[in-house]
Amino acid sequence: MLIVFCPNCGPRPVEEFRFGGELPSPPESITDPAERDFDQVWMFNNVAGIHTERWYHDAGCHRWTTVRRDTRVDRIVEQHVSLRPD
Ligand SMILES: [Zn+2]
Repeated sequence: MLIVFCPNCGPRPVEEFRFGGELPSPPESITDPAERDFDQVWMFNNVAGIHTERWYHDAGCHRWTTVRRDTRVDRIVEQHVSLRPD
């Protein structure tokens, strides 16, 4: 069973969450801010490996969390990923 760690509620079963989609990074070749926004929202990579994605705690506190998940083994490898640039 996949466990998602909600920042408010702690570890909870994935069935309590709604998948919010992957959070891809637009390629550097796209410089227009509107095109970067479009690419980030609509152009998914569907990576076989580790990627960043959003989850919404629908049956809990109604907050979003960002994780990194390895899609090859369906396991979350990093919780509470910061969305702020380094
Ligand atoms: Zn929660």
